Amino acid sequence: MLYGICSDIHSNATALKAVLASMDSYGVERRVCLGDLVGYGPDVNESVSLAASSMDISIIGNHDSVAMRWESCLGFNPYAKQAIEWTQNQLSPESVKYLDGLPYIFEENEICFVHASPMSPADWVYVTDLEDALDAFDHFSGKYCFVGHTHSPVIVAMRDAAIPKVIEDGSYVLEKGERLLVNVGSVGQPRDRDPRACWCLFDSEKESVQLIRVPYAIEETQKRMREAGISDFLVERLGVGR
Ligand code: ZN
Repeated sequence: MLYGICSDIHSNATALKAVLASMDSYGVERRVCLGDLVGYGPDVNESVSLAASSMDISIIGNHDSVAMRWESCLGFNPYAKQAIEWTQNQLSPESVKYLDGLPYIFEENEICFVHASPMSPADWVYVTDLEDALDAFDHFSGKYCFVGHTHSPVIVAMRDAAIPKVIEDGSYVLEKGERLLVNVGSVGQPRDRDPRACWCLFDSEKESVQLIRVPYAIEETQKRMREAGISDFLVERLGVGR
């Protein structure tokens, strides 16, 4: 099965359309979104409806949860807070209905899908170093776990109790006895200094993963952000991917 796995769309419909077209060009059979459909960007309901019509599996993220007022935005920085309050006012009843039905975690065929970490999925734990990665490996039982949340793509492979190894070049074929943790990066708000949209191609038969970057018309999204009154800080960071 060819999986196309993406995350952190953040109300950026232009980036999402580019990623969906890229997935099609690779012949993806099963599309997965790991959450944060909304927040930061201008295309709130369009992003939700695009995800609803294109994703086979969809997971909830922390921004989705706050957008529906399931929890407060207490931990958000001022820019994220302003954007999520604007998002709360944009969200249509149809979008709420879709987001409200999303699970925190989903597992099939040795694959775990979750927004932040399989360790306590509803607490939105950040996996940013090898210690966090070790905790994550302890909390899924299958071979693979795909996450988002940090907006920085990374592939980590682990054999038994050895120190996990970070794969630097963006693609990897699983070796015998290994398990894999993959952060699929962000569609609509990359923060690894590469502003292109990101997604992950996963071939479950070949046991291979590949992080794919997709250029899109960033300035179109930035224009709609300005029109919506979203802060200059968020508009500008989109252009530099940080
Ligand atoms: Zn996010």
